[in-house]
Amino acid sequence: MATFGTLSDRLTETFRNLRTKGKLSPADVDGTVREIRRALLDADVALQVVKDFTAKVRERALGDEVNKALNPAQQVVQIVNEELVAILGGEQRRLQFAKNPPTVIMLAGLQGSGKTTFAGKLARQLEKDGHTPLLVAADLQRPNAVNQLQVVAERAGAAIYAPEPGNGVGDPVQVSRAGVEYARQKQHDIVIIDTAGRLGVDAELMKQASDIRKATNPDEVLFVIDAMIGQDAVNTAKAFQDGVDFTGVVLSKLDGDARGGAALSVASVTGRPIIFASTGENLEDLEPFHPDRMASRILD
Ligand code: GDP
Repeated sequence: MATFGTLSDRLTETFRNLRTKGKLSPADVDGTVREIRRALLDADVALQVVKDFTAKVRERALGDEVNKALNPAQQVVQIVNEELVAILGGEQRRLQFAKNPPTVIMLAGLQGSGKTTFAGKLARQLEKDGHTPLLVAADLQRPNAVNQLQVVAERAGAAIYAPEPGNGVGDPVQVSRAGVEYARQKQHDIVIIDTAGRLGVDAELMKQASDIRKATNPDEVLFVIDAMIGQDAVNTAKAFQDGVDFTGVVLSKLDGDARGGAALSVASVTGRPIIFASTGENLEDLEPFHPDRMASRILD
């Protein structure tokens, strides 16, 4: 995974310097915390997240657990690891399924964030697990969006519910509701609703997404965010949280050369767990998100 390359290198370098010391003085701790802070800011991690993170690391690093440790430097690395896992969401959070099928999963996010691609990947993965997902094309904003989902569905070998071509633009809320009903009739146990994205956050988009949410009562609302968008990640995520109140996050394009800030900020800023990492353009490039593994990758 290319993301985090520079951040990872800089943290490794910081810890290498730390390891040359025996007992750590408060000045050693402050110097290390300062280096970590700079590395995180340069990786586009949100300022508030950096501040909270470094304050916790500093407090713990100056405390007894380090002072009494046989290997104080190693203990600081351990603290950084634990605090990283915490900002990435702590425990792994799995997809939640409805007690009474169909499970409804609604996708939201900016245009180009990777929603449609993720819809296909998720359908494929769920099929492998024995489910019978139905993709619902509720992105009726862009003329090509329905076609695109059709292509993705075909590649994934998944069923799709889409408005008939030539039937006008159609109403996304209506299509979503009808899609869930269709799934119930045809015994699809999971419905994945792909909604419209715009280039920027806008009120109309939020209202539409919120209306779809109300009409379909989803078990999961997944906010798909492109890891490459850097500092904008936090504002975008907050806007979607206020507008549709998502239940989980999908980080897409983690295979790119993003600096990783979005990945490191979003769970902490929104209080919502990251559930999947999307790591490429192929249908197979989808991984469940493990906060502890991600932290280890960053600190390796
Ligand atoms: P949507 O507008 O949110 O539905 O976004 P799309 O699914 O159409 O994705 C936009 C572009 O990003 C497409 O060119 C995808 O091939 C690409 N893409 C989506 N997910 C990933 C990913 O995880 N990694 C990479 N490298 N590209 C991706």
